[in-house]
Amino acid sequence: MKIPFNKPYMTGKELWYIAQAHAEGHMAGDGSFTKKCQSWLEGNINTRKALLTHSCTAALEMAAILADIQPGDEVIMPSYTFVSTANAFVLRGAVPVFVDIRADTLNIDETLVEAAITNKTRAIVPVHYAGVACEMDAIMEIANRHNLLVVEDAAQGIMSTYKGRPLGSIGHMATLSFHETKNIISGEGGALLINDPSLADRAEIVREKGTNRKQFFRGQVDKYTWVDVGSSYLPSEIVAAFLLAQTEEATDITQRRMAIWNTYHNELKALEREGLIRRPVIPPECVSNAHMYYILLPDAKYRTELINYLEKQGIQTVFHYVPLHSSPAGSRFCSTKAELLVTDDIAVRLLRLPLWLGLEQHQKKVIDAILSTTVDL
Ligand SMILES: *Cc1c(COP(=O)(O)O)cnc(C)c1O
Repeated sequence: MKIPFNKPYMTGKELWYIAQAHAEGHMAGDGSFTKKCQSWLEGNINTRKALLTHSCTAALEMAAILADIQPGDEVIMPSYTFVSTANAFVLRGAVPVFVDIRADTLNIDETLVEAAITNKTRAIVPVHYAGVACEMDAIMEIANRHNLLVVEDAAQGIMSTYKGRPLGSIGHMATLSFHETKNIISGEGGALLINDPSLADRAEIVREKGTNRKQFFRGQVDKYTWVDVGSSYLPSEIVAAFLLAQTEEATDITQRRMAIWNTYHNELKALEREGLIRRPVIPPECVSNAHMYYILLPDAKYRTELINYLEKQGIQTVFHYVPLHSSPAGSRFCSTKAELLVTDDIAVRLLRLPLWLGLEQHQKKVIDAILSTTVDL
């Protein structure tokens, strides 16, 4: 049997909820399933307002509009992230400014953020890599002192916490992804979380094509019209119905992922002791959601050989981001003021291992293969 890197988990209730949405006859967005998903997010993440979107990408685009980003504005973020973190702001004409990441968590290095701030800086976008929190107290303190908005890219961070606070509840806004590679899924999907109440009303307008349709349905205005920029960011009830089934098992899904994560962590400890790999580091103030298990290998050549060796045994492992500053669009649209030494170093050495529900019965094969490779290479 081949062991894939990812396999979307289905709770078994998705089709039942989709059938109910079908029976209710409300297929567009913002019906009863969307409302249930949003209240679940608001309750579990402790956010003021959650709005479902088509994707985390769409939620980031909304955040850039709500942050009132203007051409030429600068937005500070890591280069070691998914393209959408930067693209959403580039679409508004902004310049993403990359700072390096911490060698332990691979999250934005909070000690380098302040030096990247100029009079054009408008926002900071911390990305919680692998579901492990950025140093949010330091980031929020810097942002407040310089009057900047913080948008947490919590695409990988659902059900994780920082000092007991859920990721997505700390910045002025936050974005989640329900892409099938994430912990809680709806195929494609996402959410924008609004923690700053002053952004809430406009968020509804931007999500509804720039109209005040929401207020109309609440009876706050007597007809609805075009009042602001916006687009269609709301998913259909079919997607929300699928997602609701997943949210109901979120705790269980997280626990099962954590068990798999812990097995890797324990079984690969010896390799780290021998200095052959480095395992993920989770600071004591962070509780992770076991979104990802990665290892850092000695160099790029070793990684390629290990990927090929595992592939021959039917085990799929994958590396992660090409740092945005070294991508064609990144060098066109973005700015890097200092060298990104940690980013450049780890990007070529990081390898992600399979982690999905159901892997439990095959995980020994993956671990044994990794343990034996170090002898073969
Ligand atoms: C997955 C991911 C995204 C994009 O999510 P989509 O829902 O596919 O748009 C953005 N940022 C990070 C850090 C991600 O991991």
